[in-house]
Amino acid sequence: MPTKAYAAQSAASPLGPLTINRREPLNDDVEIDILYCGVCHTDIHFARNEWGLTAYPVVPGHEIVGRVTRVGDKVTRFKPGDLAAVGCMVDSCRTCVNCKQHQEQFCLKGSTFTYNGQDKHSGGMTFGGYSEKIVVTEDFALKVPDNLDPARAAPLLCAGITTYSPLRRWEVGKGKKVGIVGLGGLGHMGVKFAHAFGAHTVLFTTSERKVADGKRLGADEVVISKDADAMAGHAGSFDMILDTVSADHDLNALLGLLKLDGSLVLVGAPPNPQPVGIFGLLVPRRHLSGSLIGGIAETQEMLDFCGRHKVECDIELIRMDQINEAYERMIRSDVKYRFVIDMASLKK
Ligand SMILES: [Zn+2]
Ligand SMILES: [Zn+2]
Repeated sequence: MPTKAYAAQSAASPLGPLTINRREPLNDDVEIDILYCGVCHTDIHFARNEWGLTAYPVVPGHEIVGRVTRVGDKVTRFKPGDLAAVGCMVDSCRTCVNCKQHQEQFCLKGSTFTYNGQDKHSGGMTFGGYSEKIVVTEDFALKVPDNLDPARAAPLLCAGITTYSPLRRWEVGKGKKVGIVGLGGLGHMGVKFAHAFGAHTVLFTTSERKVADGKRLGADEVVISKDADAMAGHAGSFDMILDTVSADHDLNALLGLLKLDGSLVLVGAPPNPQPVGIFGLLVPRRHLSGSLIGGIAETQEMLDFCGRHKVECDIELIRMDQINEAYERMIRSDVKYRFVIDMASLKK
């Protein structure tokens, strides 16, 4: 069916309107009328082909919340009118060892990502959430608790799960000291989750201007990472540090803050290799790891947690036709803390 969307047609062109074709719902599909879509930095990388992976036209968007409008005959978990969400994946092989362990993001045959992925049905590419509707198999659709603001819930589908999953995996909670590095779309959710889990939460930022906001979001302490004395005061004291920074930066300064068996976990993706001094890992037995979003079951667990604890994202709502300007502002880190597109503005 013809569906209104917003797409980039080349690396150099701004995003603009495009009509795409969505499949009619199959037996196990839900059709979702998209209300809100968050704007992730990955959207910019794909729109501008910064990772060399883009097939044009590309319709970005993987932080999707909407209302179910139609369901296939075999769908059991959703009915028309339900609030539903779609994150970074719309399918996977479902049979490999990683899929069986609910780690569909690490599917050995390759997860089907929500946009610029190989569409199993059309044979072409998948199209993301900068569109009026999406059709997805119910196994990859998420339930959104009714008490969450649907616009403020949208960024949970990428920024939320990307930070929730490692904080859970490394068992962050009461009695643990946790660092969150960077206060952007990911970092602000990292601070909220670490605080909600009961950990002593320390925000690391390069910007004096972010101190007050860091505390408002739930940080017990805020450390200016350029301040060598402040950094030295925390040496060897952290159980875990979640690093959300996507630019080149000094990992060794962060490793030095970990105690025995402490872990530095990276969820940002700096473009260049980052030098690591191995002695800093040997003594006292520190760990360096990475993490990528989370599986579907864990994403549902995260949404349910957010419903129970009223954890939502701090957003700026924009119209679809403001997306190009929003990208420019994101590149300048001028957003608190996630842009979310009001998709009603596309349907007019
Ligand atoms: Zn994302
Ligand atoms: Zn698989």
